[in-house]
Amino acid sequence: MTPSAASALVEKTPLETYVPPAKPSLIGLSRAQLCDRLGDVGVAPPQRKMRAQQLWHWIYVRGARDFSEMTNVSKEMRAILAEHFTVDRPEVVAEQISADGTRKWLLRLPSGDDGQKAHEVECVYIPETDRGTLCVSSQVGCTLNCSFCHTGTQRLVRNLTAGEIVGQVMVARDRLGDWIDRETPNGNRLITNIVMMGMGEPLYNFDAVRDALLIVSDNEGIGISRRRVTLSTSGVVPNIKRTGDEIGVMLAISLHAVRDELRDELVPLNRKYPLKELLQACRDYPGASNARRITFEYVMLKGVNDSLDDARRLVQLLKGIPAKINLIPFNPWPGSKYECSDWDQIEKFSEYIFNAGYSSPVRTPRGRDILAACGQLKSETEKLSVRERNALRAMAMTD
Ligand code: SF4
Repeated sequence: MTPSAASALVEKTPLETYVPPAKPSLIGLSRAQLCDRLGDVGVAPPQRKMRAQQLWHWIYVRGARDFSEMTNVSKEMRAILAEHFTVDRPEVVAEQISADGTRKWLLRLPSGDDGQKAHEVECVYIPETDRGTLCVSSQVGCTLNCSFCHTGTQRLVRNLTAGEIVGQVMVARDRLGDWIDRETPNGNRLITNIVMMGMGEPLYNFDAVRDALLIVSDNEGIGISRRRVTLSTSGVVPNIKRTGDEIGVMLAISLHAVRDELRDELVPLNRKYPLKELLQACRDYPGASNARRITFEYVMLKGVNDSLDDARRLVQLLKGIPAKINLIPFNPWPGSKYECSDWDQIEKFSEYIFNAGYSSPVRTPRGRDILAACGQLKSETEKLSVRERNALRAMAMTD
C-alpha cells in the first residue's frame, strides 16, 4: 500500500489503558531456555527437545499468536502451556504510514521497577524495490547523546530484553501479513533485511542483542541470513570483536566525522574510544572481507563535516578496511541545531569517495513525514533538560 499522504492506521492509545502482561511470553528464549521452561511445567526430559522444536516452528515459522493454533501439539499440552505462558509480542499502540510507504510502529512495553506505567519504543519498516528493511531498536532511549540524533535527547530508560527485540520483528511480520503462508504472486517475504539502527546503542545491550539476532537469523525459524542483518554501533570498541565472533552479522559504524575534535562533539563516545582505536577494531573485525564490507555511516551536516578536505581524510582513514560509505542527508527534527548539506555538496563529496574506489550511495531519506527517518526516532517516554543530558553524557563517558 502506498498512500499519497502520511496516514495513521492505529491511533495512539492512552498510556492509562496499558495492562502489563500477566504471564511471561516464550518469545526470545533460546531452544535450551525453552526446554527449561517446559521442564518447569512438568514436561518430562525425553520430550522436551521435541516439544521445544514444535514450539519453535509454530512461533518463528508460522507466527502463531496463540497456543490453540498449534494443532500438532496435544490438547493437554496446549492447555498447560496456556496456563503458564503466552506468545505475546509488544503491544502496538500506534501505526503510521508515510507517503513513501515507510511504516512506523510505536510499541508499549512493561516498565520494570522504575515506577513508570509503561515504556515505549519505535520500529520502522522501509520498503524498497529489491528489499524490505526493518529498523529495530535495542534500548528505550539512549545514553550516548549524539548531537545530531533525536533519540539521543531521550533519557536511557532501560535495555530491551531479547524477547522485546525479536518481538519487534514478530510485530512487523504480523502487521504486514508477512508469515510463511502469505499469499503473494512469488511468495517473497516483505522483510528481507534487519538493521539494528533504531533507538539505542546495541553494543551497550550486547547479550540481549546477540540472543535476539541469533533467533532472527536461525534458519529453522525467522530465517533472515546473517549477511542480511546489520548491527550499527557508534563505536563501543570492546564489543566490536565480540559482535563478529558471537553474532557474525554485518557491521556498520556511525562515523560522521574524520577528526577526533569534531567526532567528540557529534558522537561523544569518541572521547572514550577515539578514531584510531575504532578503526583498528574495524581492521580486526572477524569475517570482514571484500564480500562482507563494513559500512561507514556519514551524516551530511552543512558546513560541519561536508568539505572535500573531510572526504579526502575519510578516504585516508579507511585505507586497508573493506569498506563502503553510506552518506545520509541529515534529517531535521524539532530543536536540532544542524542543517542538511546542500545537494550539490553531497554529490561532490560522494563523487570524491567514489573516485577513490569506494561505493558511496547517498541514502534517500525515507519516512521523514512521520519522523521515521534516520536519527529521528524518539518515543515520548522521557524528555531531557540540557542539564540532565550533559549529566548522562558524563556518565556514559565514565562507565
Ligand atoms: S545515533 Fe545512536 S548511539 Fe547516538 S544518540 Fe542516536 S541512538 Fe544513541
